[in-house]
This record gives sequence, structure tokens and C-alpha cells, in this order.
Amino acid sequence: MKNLKISNTLTKAKELFTPINPKNVTIYACGPTVYDDPHVGNARSLVVFDLLFRVLRKIYGDNNVTYVRNITDVDDKIIDIAKEKKLSIENITKEVTKQFHLACKNLNCLIPTVEPKATSHIEEMIKMTESLIKKGYAYINEGHVFFAVSSFKNYGKLSNKNLEELKAGSRVEVSKLKNNPLDFVLWKPSEDKDPGWDSPWSRGRPGWHLECSVMSEKYLGKKFDIHGGGLDLVFPHHENEIAQSCSNNSSDKMANYWVHNGFLTMEKEKMSKSLGNVVSISSAVKEHNGQVVRLALLSSHYKQPLDWNKSILSQCKSTLNKWYNLYSEKFNINENLECFDYLLDDLNTPNYIKSLHELYNEAINGNNKKRDTFNAACRLIGLFNVNKIEWEKSKKGSIKIPEKLIQSKINERLLAREKGDFKLADKIRDELLNEGILIEDKKGKTEWKYK
Ligand code: AMP
Ligand code: ZN
Repeated sequence: MKNLKISNTLTKAKELFTPINPKNVTIYACGPTVYDDPHVGNARSLVVFDLLFRVLRKIYGDNNVTYVRNITDVDDKIIDIAKEKKLSIENITKEVTKQFHLACKNLNCLIPTVEPKATSHIEEMIKMTESLIKKGYAYINEGHVFFAVSSFKNYGKLSNKNLEELKAGSRVEVSKLKNNPLDFVLWKPSEDKDPGWDSPWSRGRPGWHLECSVMSEKYLGKKFDIHGGGLDLVFPHHENEIAQSCSNNSSDKMANYWVHNGFLTMEKEKMSKSLGNVVSISSAVKEHNGQVVRLALLSSHYKQPLDWNKSILSQCKSTLNKWYNLYSEKFNINENLECFDYLLDDLNTPNYIKSLHELYNEAINGNNKKRDTFNAACRLIGLFNVNKIEWEKSKKGSIKIPEKLIQSKINERLLAREKGDFKLADKIRDELLNEGILIEDKKGKTEWKYK
């Protein structure tokens, strides 16, 4: 069996991955809060953990990996946006969940084994809160329940901070109701018009961190293999999940490996709703095609920052365009691929993509076997999910210039050439190229195709 090495935020080291049970490898990734159209920053996390899921399936077998990705459908952000848009909460969460699922499909992400919704697990959240109070880890104040951070000795281990540092540097919500500013909410009261559930403390709703502790334990057990999410979740979200779960279960670990993807940035700034620099997945897919977006997201190592810009996208588009020359329905997904070793080395996608280029060059002049291998290697990272005809069609969809206009520009260029005005002829050719149209002069005839 092949061995995976993965960077573990908990130990700050690249480690050999050893599952608790190779017949049921368990992974939990924090899913979206469904309040607004998901953006390509969210897509990075989605695609990275989809890749990890695929790699684990290849090593341990398709039926031996359980992947849980939750949906947070109760949260202050959802309540705020419902008020702002004057829509019901259900309306927002249903619509955004639909958009999210469409994005997953367009990015060719496999469906997780379980996709639990927070609102379907309120009873279990109340039970866990009761248990934490009983064991002395949590306290009640005016209908709120808080987790007492000082009661958990390993607090700060994941984010590598001590309590004093955290107190000084964090931007946690300060409230008179808390004994310590770092304490966090397990349960809070809801106003009458806001979503709420009856509990021993108030009609209220759960805290975000509690949701993931409850849902991961329900589907994966008290200790599981991998917990993932974006870098922004290390503190406080994951630190708080660990505090809750380990305290409640009197255990040393919640998950053995904590994996975090780096940020997707725009001009070096993290893409986020609050900064207003977001590109939605739906618009990126519409403009560039889901596979181009997927390849772009995999083009840098998952731990590194990735800057979202036109040049990466156009580079990935030409790459796929070239690779589609070798597209075939025939391939052997069980093939032993040499380049798989790059993915086993902490999901090194830049090296894997480099080897795909080499494989392409060998296959284009090689035999059918090489071509099948190339196809299998593309599929392994979730590429080539649409056939060649659909790929050509989708390229056409992203071209804005009408065919009639293309033809008239070509005629204009021919006229310019006849008159000897090669400067104008070249200008027209370049303008068309910018629109994604490639002109080729063949045996006295001018032909065009989508780039
Ligand atoms: P949210 O819906 O904001 O909770 O985010 C869902 C997932 O996307 C989480 O794992 C986040 O860490 C991740 N995420 C959000 N913004 C970015 C970004 N700019 N770059 C990478 N990952 C992100
Ligand atoms: Zn979470």
C-alpha cells in the first residue's frame, strides 16, 4: 500500500499518515455557511479537500473512506442577510445551498459521504452543552452558555498560542456576560423573530463551533483521522472545536491530523466577503469553465497563498485546450501511475501538473497506452469530466463575440492584406486573439477556431 505524507497543523510537521482504521478512513472538512453565493476562496477549500478525498480513496479503496462536509445553516450572518434582503431564513439557506451544490458539480467535486446540516442536529447540540455544563467546562449566564477556556489545559495548542497572547491579540467578542474574553458561546438566546429552539437555558440557537464538534462526532466518532478547513479556521474555530470535544470526551485528541489550505488572494489580499473583493464561483465558471477554475485552484501547493488573476486562468485554459487533444473515453482508473507519488507527498499538485505536461509530450507522439495513462492521470485530479464536444461547446460559451462579427473582421483583415496594410491586418488578428479567436492562414484560405 502507498503511503501519504501530509502537513499537520497540530504538530507543525509533515507526517506519515496512519489511519486509525484503514478500512474506514475518516475525514471532516468545514463546509460553507450558506448566507451568500460562494466565492472562489471557498472553492479553494472545496477543491483541496476533494483532492484529498480522491487521494485517500485511491490508496485505501473507494468504499473505505468516509468524508463529511457540513452545511452551516444557522448563523448570525444568515440572520443579518435575511433582514437586509427582507427574505425568510429558509429562503436564503435553500437558495444558497442550491448555488453551493451547483458550484460543487461545476468544479467536479465528488459528493461527500455525509453532508449534515446544523439545523438537523440541534437536539445533539443541546445534549453536548448539557454535558459540558455538568462536567464543569461550561457556565450559564442570562440564557447564554459559555465554554470556560481556562478549564481546558491544551487551549492554544493547535494555533500555537498561549492564553495570555491570545487575550492580548485576539479580536474575540467582548461581553459582560463572559468570565473571560476568550470564553466562547455554546448557546445563545434568540430574539422572538429569529430562529430558535427550546432549551433548558433559553429559546435560542447553537454556537458555530459546537455544530462541528457535534456533527463530526456523530458521523466519524470521538476520534477521527483528518479535520480540514481554510487557514482562517485554525483560530478560533478549530481551537474551540478541540476544546469542546476533548473536554467532553476526556480525550487527548479530536482528530489526529489537522490540515489547512492557504488563502486565495486578490492583489495579495485574502478574498473575503468582508473586504468585498470576491469573485463568485458561478461567475468564474461561466466565464472560464469549471475545469479551468479547478486546474487554476490546483496550480499552486495547497498550503501556499494563491493569487487569483487573469494570467493563471488563461494559462490553465490553454493547457486544458492542449490536453483535450488527447482526450479519450478509454482509460484505466486503477492504473499504477508513477506521478501519483507527487500527490502522496503532501498533495504536491504543482509537481503533479508538471508531470502531466511531460506525460502529454510523451503521449502525443507515443502509443495508445501512453494516451490512456495520460487520461487516467487527468481524471485522478478531477479533470476531463466533460467530453471533448462539451469542452469545445463550453469554450464557445465563454466567447462574447458573435460569429458574424468574426467573419466580417476576417474579411476586413483580408482586404487590409490585399492593400498591403499588414499593420492593420496584424492588429485585427491580435484583437480577435484577445477575444479568444485564433486565425490561421491555410493554403490561401483563412480559417478560425476557438483558442
Ligand atoms: P465560510 O463559508 O466562510 O465558513 O468558508 C468555507 C470554507 O472556505 C472554509 O474552510 C474557509 O476557511 C474557506 N475560505 C474562505 N475564504 C477563503 C480564502 N480566501 N482562501 C481560502 N479558503 C477560504
Ligand atoms: Zn467547522
